[in-house]
Amino acid sequence: MILQNWWFTTLLGIEDPIEPPLVGDRKADVVIIGAGAAGLSSAYALMNSGVKVVVLERNICGGSSSGKSAGFLTPDSELELAQLERRFGNAGAAELWNVATRGVEMMAERVREHHIPCDLQVQDSLFLGNGKSGWEAVQDEVRSREALGFEQEQLDAQAVRSLIGSSAYSGAVRYKGTYGINALLYCQGMKKVLKEHGVVIHEASEVIGWKEHTVRTHLGSVNADRIIFCADKLSPQLSLHAENIFHAQTFLSISEPLGDDAARALFPSERFQCWDSDLVYSYFRMTGDGRLLLGGGDMLTTFAKNDVNSSRVIDQVISGFKKNFPQLRGLRFIQYWPGRIDTTRDLIPTVINEERTPWIHFVLGCVGLPWATFCGDLVARQTTGRSGPMDEKCYHYFRPDRKFLVPLWLERIIGKQIVFSLNNGWAKYYQVDVH
Ligand SMILES: Cc1cc2nc3c(=O)[nH]c(=O)nc-3n(C[C@H](O)[C@H](O)[C@H](O)COP(=O)(O)OP(=O)(O)OC[C@H]3O[C@@H](n4cnc5c(N)ncnc54)[C@H](O)[C@@H]3O)c2cc1C
Repeated sequence: MILQNWWFTTLLGIEDPIEPPLVGDRKADVVIIGAGAAGLSSAYALMNSGVKVVVLERNICGGSSSGKSAGFLTPDSELELAQLERRFGNAGAAELWNVATRGVEMMAERVREHHIPCDLQVQDSLFLGNGKSGWEAVQDEVRSREALGFEQEQLDAQAVRSLIGSSAYSGAVRYKGTYGINALLYCQGMKKVLKEHGVVIHEASEVIGWKEHTVRTHLGSVNADRIIFCADKLSPQLSLHAENIFHAQTFLSISEPLGDDAARALFPSERFQCWDSDLVYSYFRMTGDGRLLLGGGDMLTTFAKNDVNSSRVIDQVISGFKKNFPQLRGLRFIQYWPGRIDTTRDLIPTVINEERTPWIHFVLGCVGLPWATFCGDLVARQTTGRSGPMDEKCYHYFRPDRKFLVPLWLERIIGKQIVFSLNNGWAKYYQVDVH
């Protein structure tokens, strides 16, 4: 098994060239920094609106988190509905779930409208319970979904066994409206669509500073009326808000193609995207070409400061998977890769538009492609005065000064990782906000 992002391997097959870096000084109406799901969604919202848009990306479009992701398109990115309900109440939880659902739909709509070749797979979600506490989590999720009027199916252990060929799980929630995607090909496809509609994109163009209305790269600059930062791993030189962002590491692996018999042993009737109820959960789904994508992590490396490149963690994830699916004992995994996801302390995105710099937006810490897609669209619409009725509420949910259990100044005493994990665990399992 080699250390290499499988999605980069699939990129070898596409013909679109890399966009050349920015050289020289340009003017634009809007400059967007970062071309992951969020930045591309901003650019898409502005496309055809009569404004001149320039996108600056330090890697290639999708070259960071988006293009490393497992491509589960589900509103459940880290926060289950039951967790949102406890924290925000019925109405708030439904609003936020609908935000993430809208993000899923936006991506699927764009793929379909522009025929983006990115292996979009319709795959129902299966949230799998592990043991007794997992079964309770499943039942909580079903209760919340019913209370909030969402559709789902509750499955006991036997029903799960008939769907995924494993007797390891205590139950599951199944729901529709979710997809698998090759998110790197999606980003590259979006690049093509944007270019065809007049958006200027420069790859290999890192923004290293900004002053007033001008952002600077190594070889050039863009002066724009509006600036939208959708950049990850933000450097403190670009914004002091960088200190509000933390990272959670997860590991992915891809198998050789399963073949029909092995595929049926895993998914006897249809293919699902699956994740379990553990705090550091494992997740798997199949790609269109019949490979198994399997991911997970462990407590020690989730909050590690830097990428952990050894295969130790993913080896454990693979061996746990094979215990649950002994019929796939012989399956070979060929590539693996780690990725650190930008996140806030409570797993809800942060969107910043300060009074002293009203022309600048920051979209930070989106955990999940759907949230990133929604937030990119949100700020672009605000930038051009096309806000919708939900938008004000979203700015409220995503405001940077919302309540967190442990304040940032404690980092100096107990360390960034501990502050993050305490806030993270609190937001997920205990936090209740004043509504
Ligand atoms: C291994 C892994 C698995 C994941 N699996 C899933 C999943 O299955 N489903 C899901 O929904 N989410 C998943 N995620 C999370 C998801 O990928 C992210 O939440 C989402 O991609 C964030 O999108 P973004 O646009 O905010 O950030 P990014 O995709 O990180 O985009 C930010 C962009 O900004 C660029 N940039 C940064 N600094 C600068 C600069 N100074 N100048 C110019 N450009 C800059 C970066 O190169 C990058 O392309 C996963 C993440 C990882 C790492």
